[in-house]
Amino acid sequence: MKKVRVIGAGLAGSEAAIYLAKNSIDVELIEMRPKYTTGAHKTELPAEFVCSNSLGSMDLLNSSGLLKKEAQMLGSILIEQAVINSVPAGNSLAVDRTGFSKAIDEIIKNHPNITLINEKYDEIDFNVPTIIATGPLTDEKLCKNIKEVFSEEDFHFYDAIAPIVEKSSINFEKAFYASRWDKGEADFINCPMNEEEYKNFYNILINAKRAPLKDFEAKYFEGCMPIEVMASRGIDTLRFGPMKPVGLFDKRIETSFKKNQFWAVVQLRQDDKIADFYNLVGFQTNLVWSEQKKLIQSIPGLENAIITRYGVMHANTFINSPKILNKHLQSKKYPNIFFAGQLTGVEGYVESIATGLFAAINIKKYINDTPMITLSNSTMLGALIDYITFDNHKNFEPQNSNWGILKEIQLDKKQMKDKKLKNTIKKDRALKEIENITKEI
Ligand SMILES: Cc1cc2nc3c(=O)[nH]c(=O)nc-3n(C[C@H](O)[C@H](O)[C@H](O)COP(=O)(O)OP(=O)(O)OC[C@H]3O[C@@H](n4cnc5c(N)ncnc54)[C@H](O)[C@@H]3O)c2cc1C
Repeated sequence: MKKVRVIGAGLAGSEAAIYLAKNSIDVELIEMRPKYTTGAHKTELPAEFVCSNSLGSMDLLNSSGLLKKEAQMLGSILIEQAVINSVPAGNSLAVDRTGFSKAIDEIIKNHPNITLINEKYDEIDFNVPTIIATGPLTDEKLCKNIKEVFSEEDFHFYDAIAPIVEKSSINFEKAFYASRWDKGEADFINCPMNEEEYKNFYNILINAKRAPLKDFEAKYFEGCMPIEVMASRGIDTLRFGPMKPVGLFDKRIETSFKKNQFWAVVQLRQDDKIADFYNLVGFQTNLVWSEQKKLIQSIPGLENAIITRYGVMHANTFINSPKILNKHLQSKKYPNIFFAGQLTGVEGYVESIATGLFAAINIKKYINDTPMITLSNSTMLGALIDYITFDNHKNFEPQNSNWGILKEIQLDKKQMKDKKLKNTIKKDRALKEIENITKEI
């Protein structure tokens, strides 16, 4: 049986290992946890969601929804398991993180074609076909080795994690269940604020002490900006961002939406299947823990909140993919070596899973001496890969799925203004291409 080595049993690595094993390839899966830690992972389990438990919208007219659908059609086991282990979250796919990782753990441990080795991988072996999927928190020694062999500089930015609280400690005299615009089930817990409460919260936030960042100047990914950084952009930034009150009302008080009912609202999303824990939506933070407690307990409804996980911030490493990789996610210089996941410069859970699957499909073709697949930038996954391997960027920055990276379509001026129509046509075009490619796989 042919053999592939997969480094890292995170989201991309687990997806890749399971795909290859299911396709009769002998997989050596090397994962450094639990012997060594990344600082952000909390369990010994594979495919751990380090922060939010949300995989974004399920709506196919949403870029993340389209990417998930493409990955599903290509045979993603992780997306399948995410759906099986989902928890209520309106139109989004949110996951019971422990249930999900345990399911992946069982698949990996029970598959006869996978050998799991809990060791740290420090140096690339160019003789073995390998997928490197060690993520944004790749261990230092391997980072050093990658830099040396590919003659590259450091690439990194910062990402933050949001806190989680115990539901039993939430005061439901103030907090209420609702979904925005009353769509679907009332899955979110909402903590409303009036103007005075918001100002008090804001003052605590902007005066709170931040944990020191390490060696380099802070550079954040816009989609995962800490609340204290957002708040420093102006008093209303949070009110028009993660704390926006529009479309939310407390049915115990009002019978319908009322303009300006609340000045701001903190939303909490279910974090586990039995709904014991809730995470604060958009509240990724790097404040020192005592200040986080003070801030969270200043939120109406969370006065006595028991915090089971505090927010933390981490450097997030990625390689210079435009120089290093071709459109199969294969190293240009060392054809046995493929990369996948966030380390390639894609950003996000679904993006990491999808690139893990794509690298696995191609390494299988590569070792079998059959032509590898490419996806055009009419598909969301193809557009992402196109973006990270396009070698003419002025500044290469990580990228998540979005409509802007997809190839444009030809429509008249009036039609171009109709975003829904435009995205529907793009979505249909993408799914058609994926459907065709599944026949090739
Ligand atoms: C702090 C933080 C918060 C994030 N929050 C979100 C979020 O809320 N939503 C979102 O969509 N995305 C988020 N991301 C981005 C990204 O989606 C996740 O990091 C995702 O887990 C990346 O998947 P991956 O498979 O590339 O890496 P990972 O899932 O991190 O897997 C990499 C694995 O490799 C292992 N490993 C590392 N080095 C070695 C080595 N030398 N030898 C052996 N094993 C090794 C690690 O232990 C880990 O298990 C966050 C990232 C960070 C850093």
